[in-house]
Amino acid sequence: MGGSKEKACRNCKRIVQGDVCDNCGSTSFTTTFSGLIIIIDPEKSEFAKELKLKKAGAYAVKLG
Ligand SMILES: [Zn+2]
Repeated sequence: MGGSKEKACRNCKRIVQGDVCDNCGSTSFTTTFSGLIIIIDPEKSEFAKELKLKKAGAYAVKLG
């Protein structure tokens, strides 16, 4: 067994393991997403700025 399925927050695209997005608090997720980007320094990432991400972590590039 094992291997929790990765899911992405529909609101901010963050890859979330629990039941609540720890970035925006959303509980709406999708397991259908493509691309994965790791934000290490949100302040310096164009992608983070574009999505207004303030937290480092993994995010899906595209949902659906
Ligand atoms: Zn979120």
